[in-house]
Amino acid sequence: MPDARSLSCPHCGAPAEPGTGRCVYCRGRLATVSCPKCFALLFDAARFCPSCGAPRERTEVGDGEIATCPACRGRVLHVRLGTASLLECADCDGVWIDAADFERICADREAQAAVLHRWTGHGTAPAGPVRYRPCLRCKKLMNRVNFGRLSGTVVDVCRGHGTFLDVGELHAIVTFIEAGGLDRARAREMEELREEERKLQALQAQRSADNQAINYSSRAWSRHDLAQLIAMVQRK
Ligand SMILES: [Zn+2]
Ligand SMILES: [Zn+2]
Ligand SMILES: [Zn+2]
Ligand SMILES: [Zn+2]
Repeated sequence: MPDARSLSCPHCGAPAEPGTGRCVYCRGRLATVSCPKCFALLFDAARFCPSCGAPRERTEVGDGEIATCPACRGRVLHVRLGTASLLECADCDGVWIDAADFERICADREAQAAVLHRWTGHGTAPAGPVRYRPCLRCKKLMNRVNFGRLSGTVVDVCRGHGTFLDVGELHAIVTFIEAGGLDRARAREMEELREEERKLQALQAQRSADNQAINYSSRAWSRHDLAQLIAMVQRK
């Protein structure tokens, strides 16, 4: 439970909405991604994660990286959360995670989770206008991917370079993985493959039935033609 102090903005004193990372009045930071386990946002005063109970662990390493945020072109800072390493935007709080680091974060929570970078192209359209963002590394526009196909969290992926996540999305993804989401996604994928196979078989059966019908009708026509030919010959 956040105490009374954490319910008012330390920057301007305005009442702070619980669960939001920024003050709605002065845009000052209220909470930062500080849980090394589930990547939840923690109020500065909180020593333990309200979602999973892990102790806060966040180190701002600095801005050694010369890179800009794919979402807002803000300055990104290198942040360490336990063993995880990421670049965080000082303006919009979005995070960039290099491909290998992201796969390790997922794999640490799920043995076969190195799946996202193979799943590009399966993205589903999110609600609202789609804005494609440039990769932080190569500047090419990234793919929008519904993480694990079922999570509903749409992230930006440049295959091989990394993943960009809006504020709160890393926590949502880790929560999805820990709830067995990727197992469900794999089961769904198998089911879809089987369904495709069934459709293909039905189509092939239909096609061979159609071919038989065509053969039969062409035979019928040629018999008809033959009869006409015979009638013509007989008339002579
Ligand atoms: Zn404020
Ligand atoms: Zn946590
Ligand atoms: Zn940003
Ligand atoms: Zn790239």
